[in-house]
Amino acid sequence: FQGLHRSAELFGRGQRVITGGNARLSLFQRPHPVYFAEGTGVHLLDVNGNTYLDFMNNFTALIHGHGFRPVLDRLHHQLELGVSFSGPTELEVELAELLCGRVPYFDQVRFVNSGTEAVMYTIKAARALTGRVKIAKLEGAFHGSYDPVEVSLDSAPANWGSRSAPNAIPYSAGNSQAVADDTVVLPFNDVEATREILERNRDKLAAVLIDVLPQRAGLVPISLSYLAFLREITARYGIVLISDEVMSFRLSFRGGITRFGFEADLCAFAKIIGGGLPIGAVGGPARYMLPFDSTNGKPLVPQAGTFSANPMSMAAGIATMQSLSEQSFQLFDDLGEYARSSLIEMFHRERLPYSVTGMGSMFRIHLRAEAPEGYREAYAAAEQQRKMEILIRALQDRNVIVSPTCQLCLSTPMSKDHIDEMVTSVREATKMVEAL
Ligand code: PMP
Repeated sequence: FQGLHRSAELFGRGQRVITGGNARLSLFQRPHPVYFAEGTGVHLLDVNGNTYLDFMNNFTALIHGHGFRPVLDRLHHQLELGVSFSGPTELEVELAELLCGRVPYFDQVRFVNSGTEAVMYTIKAARALTGRVKIAKLEGAFHGSYDPVEVSLDSAPANWGSRSAPNAIPYSAGNSQAVADDTVVLPFNDVEATREILERNRDKLAAVLIDVLPQRAGLVPISLSYLAFLREITARYGIVLISDEVMSFRLSFRGGITRFGFEADLCAFAKIIGGGLPIGAVGGPARYMLPFDSTNGKPLVPQAGTFSANPMSMAAGIATMQSLSEQSFQLFDDLGEYARSSLIEMFHRERLPYSVTGMGSMFRIHLRAEAPEGYREAYAAAEQQRKMEILIRALQDRNVIVSPTCQLCLSTPMSKDHIDEMVTSVREATKMVEAL
């Protein structure tokens, strides 16, 4: 296991002063994570001097990979001018103009510091706009750490309830049942079962929160008929349709839901728009953004934050987004398709019981022969979880970094050669895992 020596030592030091050893749950690994020292383009260097192909890109945030020159230049410049002020800067106007110029239904945006915060503010706004409390979310979808969305996530099959009416189970201990009761869980891509649930709750629902490509629920794209149905029924009952595009904003030049030909009422997005620095944002038509408006006194939803719209995140975000054209996303689509089909063909050829889902620049490898349709099939039982951990470690040993759910994503400096290299590592690693 590469990187063992220095990483083990750092984890040991970390364990004394950081609860659990390292500071992000998603990066924890048994016996310890690999500690990184440097990133350049598609590569990462660990503290022992080993080089890896980075197919994780900080959970999809680094769309241009590491050390992207326009981002570095803009950051160096801004660093000299000042890293944060107690006053707005031209940079926030510039990034907001860029985003509103791209996403057709965005009149305005507000900046925050993370995807979690962005989702939280869309829900607060939806509740303020409608005077209702309940929200609906797709089964198994991850939306960050705000209480109302930490429901129906990673729960054991015994708790799922029926397929057509999934249970709302709190995720974090201490999250009250009352919070869970205010969240309605929808069966992904099932129009009839969802219609029944939404009709039953229509006078109580502030929002329907979706992700057009929910990662934790399998990275299976939402079906067009399901999205069309959700768009129509939410509009009919005055329910705010929120699109969580913290990851799926990566799907096109104009965002996630627009790729499917639809518009949301509010969008929560993050990651790529900060160029690798902390960021989150809420965007939408002016009338849906109204709860944040303070021009006539206290807003319905006060939104502040010491580091919201900080100049460094804005500067990195502008440089990143300016370097993404419509063509960049076409290239992502082509390369993503090449990666998915190369993996599928390889699994087929080698008779390996694995499948692949995804869209655009994102894909996920599943430890099952048939691709999942949603959360229930994508869910990994304890034994599979263990196998997944071994696979991810085996990939690390073959110099490829993927997410803990075996999700991969592309960055603009990647080429077919990098994909071929990754597929070779996946072939070797999966064969090794199957031989155990
Ligand atoms: N929503 C989605 C779809 C996400 O993928 C994530 C993070 N991976 C979040 C929300 C939370 O974002 P953050 O980690 O920036 O708080």
